[in-house]
Amino acid sequence: MAQSSDQSSDQSSGKSSDQAADQTRTLKEQLWDPVAGFGVTFRTMFRKVVTEQYPFDKQPTAPRFHGRHQLNRWPDGLEKCIGCELCAWACPADAIYVEGASNVDGPGPDGEDSGRFSPGERYGAVYQINYLRCILCGLCIEACPTRALTMTNEYELADNNRADLIYEKNDLLAPLLPGMEQPPHEMQLGDSDGDYYRGASR
Ligand code: SF4
Ligand code: SF4
Repeated sequence: MAQSSDQSSDQSSGKSSDQAADQTRTLKEQLWDPVAGFGVTFRTMFRKVVTEQYPFDKQPTAPRFHGRHQLNRWPDGLEKCIGCELCAWACPADAIYVEGASNVDGPGPDGEDSGRFSPGERYGAVYQINYLRCILCGLCIEACPTRALTMTNEYELADNNRADLIYEKNDLLAPLLPGMEQPPHEMQLGDSDGDYYRGASR
């Protein structure tokens, strides 16, 4: 019995201390916390605004930001891609699909002039990147042996349907600059592959 009376006195003293603590906390909450909260607001009002008004106000990215891919060209307009598929094999997300084909100077096997799209033997006839899968990691551009594939700083890749997020070769090819000609055409920077590459890299 003595033990239970000790317990009840402990409980009642505990309750009263809790009530006192509650009262103190309530007073603090009522009087101090609002002042402290408005103090934060007041201080922040005079700081530099960091909110970016995207999409009305677009900020430049870091120079090496990984954005949309680009398929590059040589200075005469021929494509750097040789259709080797190394980028597709390097991609951890299986986002790239490539089909290579042979360049043909003059009449093709069916008597048609099938043309030359890149220096050397092969070119990328079909090239797709699926931006629903791509995680913009950059492993594909590291794997590319000809620097045909690089990444731009373009980051606005959202769309309202899935099909438009599979970019085809024409969506990815670099624009023609002055002095470039739309392939297919002959190699204009040298007659042999060696001449072409050495001349083009000068
Ligand atoms: S950036 Fe990465 S995920 Fe995207 S296509 Fe290249 S390797 Fe694949
Ligand atoms: S982009 Fe580069 S790695 Fe990919 S198929 Fe073309 S040449 Fe090969």
